[in-house]
Amino acid sequence: MDLGLQDRIALVTGASSGLGWAAARELAREGCKVALCSRSETRIRQAAARIAVETGVAEDRLLPLVCDVREEAQIVQVIEQVVAHWGQLNILVTNAGGPPAGYIGDFTADDWRAALELNLLSTINLCRHALPHLRQAARKPNGLARILMITSISAKQPIPNLYLSNAARAGVQGFAKSLAEELGPEGITVNTLLPGYTRTERLAELARLQQQRTGRSVEEIEASWAEQAALKRLGEPEEFAAAVVFLASARASYITGVALPVDGGRSKHLL
Ligand code: NAD
Repeated sequence: MDLGLQDRIALVTGASSGLGWAAARELAREGCKVALCSRSETRIRQAAARIAVETGVAEDRLLPLVCDVREEAQIVQVIEQVVAHWGQLNILVTNAGGPPAGYIGDFTADDWRAALELNLLSTINLCRHALPHLRQAARKPNGLARILMITSISAKQPIPNLYLSNAARAGVQGFAKSLAEELGPEGITVNTLLPGYTRTERLAELARLQQQRTGRSVEEIEASWAEQAALKRLGEPEEFAAAVVFLASARASYITGVALPVDGGRSKHLL
């Protein structure tokens, strides 16, 4: 299947590791020119170099940039850098790290504010500032404009100890659905991707925290997560990235407003 991604311009945030990195790698493999950003210049440069080595894609098709997505000014700057470098923006993939785990008594108002800034406000600001460029890209002949938001399966089915994530992801979902409705007439699609338990640094950290809290081994904890999925295993970042690539592609032209679980069948609801 030709995905129609050759030479499309993509920006993936939170891309020095994990799901963001895997998404950037697969978009590059499918022919996109990919700007990838995270907070550390060293880490994002290394991340881009690793993509070039693993895919054989020329380094000048990858643009490593520094951006802390909690800072609106840095978002504005990074989008300007992408457009100045490659002339347009077709695909925005919003992503960042997850907030700390814990229950209601564990967090202050400042913790709540920080989580909403990291996972909700960052998404809104990225979309707000990318939108003029995505609109232009959609208007071109053979244009393509896509917004993809990486959230969590907790948007559909809250996870008991992830209060901050559960609340922020639900907000992103409401925002995405509103945006999909408004941008539909312009041919811009907006979808969210909801990872289940997928092997990344974030998951390893959550396992370590649970180990400290419960005394169970990391292996037992991972096995209990795997058991929740219909496929009885954890996901791999490249499996998640394949879904990103498809929803970003020209072939996903009639899919918008969708919240797609990529969770090996962890969510048990009908729809
Ligand atoms: P990760 O911690 O492995 O990677 C997160 C990336 O975001 C890193 O590159 C990090 O440097 C970057 N980042 C963090 N804070 C940032 C900021 N303020 N500005 C810019 N970049 C920032 O996490 P992951 O597992 O790849 O998860 C990605 C997202 O998916 C997170 O929001 C996570 O909560 C969510 N998620 C992950 C899983 C899973 O099993 N891995 C499951 C559900 C949801």
